[in-house]
Amino acid sequence: MSIFGATGSIGQNTIDLIARDPDAYDVVALTGASNIDRLAKDAKQLKADVAVTADPMRLEDLRAALSGSGVEAAAGHDAMIEAAQRPTDWVMSAIVGAAGLQPGICALEQGATLALANKESLVCAGALILATAKQHDARLLPVDSEHSAVFQALVGEDMGSVERIILTASGGAFRDWPLEDLAQATLAQASSHPNWDMGQRITIDSASMFNKALELIETREYFEVSPKQIEVLVHPESMIHALVGFNDGALMAHVGPPDMRHAIGYALNWPTRRALPVERLDLAAIGALTFRAPDEERWPALRLAREVMERGGLAGAVFNAAKETALDGFIDGHLGFTRMAEVVDEVLNTSDPSHIDAQMTLDNVQAADHMARQVAKNIIEQTAG
Ligand code: NAD
Ligand code: MG
Repeated sequence: MSIFGATGSIGQNTIDLIARDPDAYDVVALTGASNIDRLAKDAKQLKADVAVTADPMRLEDLRAALSGSGVEAAAGHDAMIEAAQRPTDWVMSAIVGAAGLQPGICALEQGATLALANKESLVCAGALILATAKQHDARLLPVDSEHSAVFQALVGEDMGSVERIILTASGGAFRDWPLEDLAQATLAQASSHPNWDMGQRITIDSASMFNKALELIETREYFEVSPKQIEVLVHPESMIHALVGFNDGALMAHVGPPDMRHAIGYALNWPTRRALPVERLDLAAIGALTFRAPDEERWPALRLAREVMERGGLAGAVFNAAKETALDGFIDGHLGFTRMAEVVDEVLNTSDPSHIDAQMTLDNVQAADHMARQVAKNIIEQTAG
């Protein structure tokens, strides 16, 4: 197996599971970016063939940290791609952002089973990912908790009897804030999630609902359902991860503690189930689960996702790149919290349509991504200036 984004939240949860039974896994590649100590420590412990940092400036640090261990050190984009092309049976795709797309495609081209935490791959290039998997007889397994939940609710079912898919959302950090306070939300406030412990970027995306917006598109691409069949339901307790509604009126819900090791473990052990070190829910102690409709005024990202699905083509790549750039702007202090959605909206409305209508190839997706980042940066600079 290989783990792309091994040093992040999903990567570390994956390592937590495999490190309990290290002899069961032959680890080929681990990749990371700036956290060299963690990358080297895990690569040595798991006896990986190669450890790769995305940052070429850190090669010497990584070499030094791995010296004498027998683990090869490599750095930079090309090294990342070379590592992703090394044949292996199972790959965790857990890089954050569109940077995860190309390594994932490389893994599929080797016929590996791709456990996909990197939802951006499906948002930017769903049709390409699915076609690549098909062409190379590779399997794609969802790791996003909602999508793993839907996948599990669909075992043994016929997609023709599915009426709707309901994704739950905790509502993030600002679920109960007065609307007029949102524009002033700080980075620290947006970086704290009520239920899940995740990387900073997805935590902020949960507060803005851009995470759920990406997941709407991810659902459409992965399960090949129409946008009208996908609903969002705010569920503050984060115990039900998703529901599937069938044509006989039945709803199948997936219930579990908010712990990503469940979805990761399901993808790791699929098609079987194995015991996992996650909490067993005491529903009597929990007492009640609550639900509410999503408020599109509070979370304009949801409306934007619907527009992107309607538009089709490479609109998802533009949307994601604009969102990543707006998020950088918020993290760097150049953009207020509510401005993120406004910037993304503006990028979608002012982008050269030829990018969105281009054929879905990796080159065209990367060109659309690049263009959208540039447009978003210009908008942010004008605002700041
Ligand atoms: P994270 O920020 O904790 O970790 C990201 C990883 O990607 C790190 O290993 C980092 O070194 C690496 N990375 C960052 N930029 C890179 C680049 N340009 N090139 C190569 N590597 C790079 O993120 P995370 O929370 O673990 O999320 C990873 C992915 O999983 C995201 O797509 C996220 O949406 C998805 N996801 C995460 C969770 C969660 O619980 N954390 C849940 C569902 C889905
Ligand atoms: Mg999710």
